Amino acid sequence: MRIVVKLGTSTLTHKTGRINIRRVEKLTKILSDIRNEGHEMILVSSGAIGMGVGKLNLKEKPDDMATKQAAAAIGQCELMYLYDKLFREYSHMVAQMLITAADIRDDETRQNFQNTMNRLLELGVMPIVNENDSVATEEISVGDNDTLGAVVAKNADADLLIILTDTDGLYTEDPRTSENAQLLDIVFNITPEIRNLAGAKGSKLATGGMLTKLNAAEIAMEAGIDMVIANGTRPELLYDIMDGKKVGTKFIGKK
Ligand code: GLU
Repeated sequence: MRIVVKLGTSTLTHKTGRINIRRVEKLTKILSDIRNEGHEMILVSSGAIGMGVGKLNLKEKPDDMATKQAAAAIGQCELMYLYDKLFREYSHMVAQMLITAADIRDDETRQNFQNTMNRLLELGVMPIVNENDSVATEEISVGDNDTLGAVVAKNADADLLIILTDTDGLYTEDPRTSENAQLLDIVFNITPEIRNLAGAKGSKLATGGMLTKLNAAEIAMEAGIDMVIANGTRPELLYDIMDGKKVGTKFIGKK
C-alpha cells in the first residue's frame, strides 16, 4: 500500500511549541516498522511554525506574515533535523519536499513534484512534505496541512490517507464540551449534516480543525482514496489501522 500520513502540530509539539520528544520518537519507530512491512510511506508534517515559535521562545504564534514565515523557516530546519536523526536510527532515509498550491496548479511543476515523489519512493526514501511556508502568501498557499495531505495523496495516487490529530475522530457533538458526543466510525458522503458537525479549530499553534479535515476528506474521497482521522496521541493506533481494525473515523473513497 502507498500511505500518506499527516502529522499535525498538536501531535508533534507540546503547547509551548517545543518538540514532544516521547511522542515523536514513538511515531518514527512505528512508522519505520510499517515501512519495514513493505508499505510505501509519505509524511505530510506540520509543526514548522509551531517549532519556530518554540525555538524563538515567542509567547504565541505571531500574526504578522514576516514573523510567521521566519518562524516557519527556523522550525522547518529543526523538524527535518529531527526526522532525519530519528528515522536514521531505524535505517530509513527521508527527503524534504516543500510545495505551495501554485506548484500544484501549474502543470509543469505538478509533474515535477510527482516525478520526484515517485523516484524517491522507488529509491526507498520517505518523502516528508510541508507547505513552503516561508514563501507562501495567501494567494498561493494551500493554507492548511489537512488539505495539503489530501492534495499530496491525490497526486501520489495513494491508497490511504491517515490524518493524526488531537481527537479520536469526527463526533456528533464537540467532545470537549458535551458528554453525549458520539464518535462516527464511518462516513460515506460529506453531507451538509456532516459538515455541520465540524466545530472550531483545536490548538493554538495549529492552523486547521475539523472543517479542514472534512475538506481533505472530500478531496481524497473524490480521488477514490480512503481517509482515516485518528488520535495522534496514541501512535500505536497506526498498527490497528494497517490491520484494518476500526479506528477513529474512516471516510470511504468513491470506487
Ligand atoms: N505548514 C504549517 C507548519 O508547518 C502547518 C499548517 C497546518 O498545520 O495546517 O507549521
